Amino acid sequence: MLRMAHEKTIPRPRNPAIPARETLEQRRRRAREVARRLHRAYPDARPALVHDSPFQLLIATILSAQATDEKVNEVAEVLFQRYPDPESLASAPLSDLEAIVKPTGFYRNKARNIRATAQAIVERFDGEVPRDMDALITLPGVARKTANVVLGNAFGIAAGFVVDTHVGRIARRMGFTREWDAVKVERDLMKVFPRSEWIFVPNAWIWHGRRVCTARRAWCNACVLSDVCPQRVEPERVGAPPPRPETGPARSVRPARGRPAE
Ligand code: SF4
Repeated sequence: MLRMAHEKTIPRPRNPAIPARETLEQRRRRAREVARRLHRAYPDARPALVHDSPFQLLIATILSAQATDEKVNEVAEVLFQRYPDPESLASAPLSDLEAIVKPTGFYRNKARNIRATAQAIVERFDGEVPRDMDALITLPGVARKTANVVLGNAFGIAAGFVVDTHVGRIARRMGFTREWDAVKVERDLMKVFPRSEWIFVPNAWIWHGRRVCTARRAWCNACVLSDVCPQRVEPERVGAPPPRPETGPARSVRPARGRPAE
């Protein structure tokens, strides 16, 4: 089994087509090619968190820390039935929120943060999720990753690059960064990918990282990026390919009330 050995150092490229020392221009060219292939492989890539509004996406993303999207979706369904908007969540009893969000882990912190975030949105932003990074990261429990998820996927604003565990791992394996700190990884990715890809590429990489370039094993023989990836591993060393990758969740935004489901 191929293991990427926690990659504390960046290994030398295995793929002879990729120079050991790329210029910034070469890396940018490769990044554009990566984006092009991801569009073909994951045309519908978007977050798996089900939501009805920017506020619900924000709260679900806060809850997703150290939790699976499936678990968050289960919890969010109950939470948003009872507290669908900032006003109702801002005045929710903390003990009720703790009981609801408990399955996602770290429930005391998360319950406090989601209620404080709802209160801040009501008090400081007229009940609307702010549309800029500087304002978003003042909200409790919100750092750049969460802010980028909301800005990109709820508002279509490419302020930065979402860096989660999958994005960081693939970016390192693909030689786009040597960093482990998410802010530094984001800075490196913003340098090589055009802004027009800052929303799509992380969404696609998250799906790719779950299905193909996983933490435990890189299925390079099933990877659409293999000939533009420095760490590509030859098929005979990888074994059988994984199940065919999905291109995204069935849906990530609930249809508006009264409109029939597609
Ligand atoms: S070829 Fe694909 S699966 Fe293999 S390391 Fe590179 S990105 Fe990951």
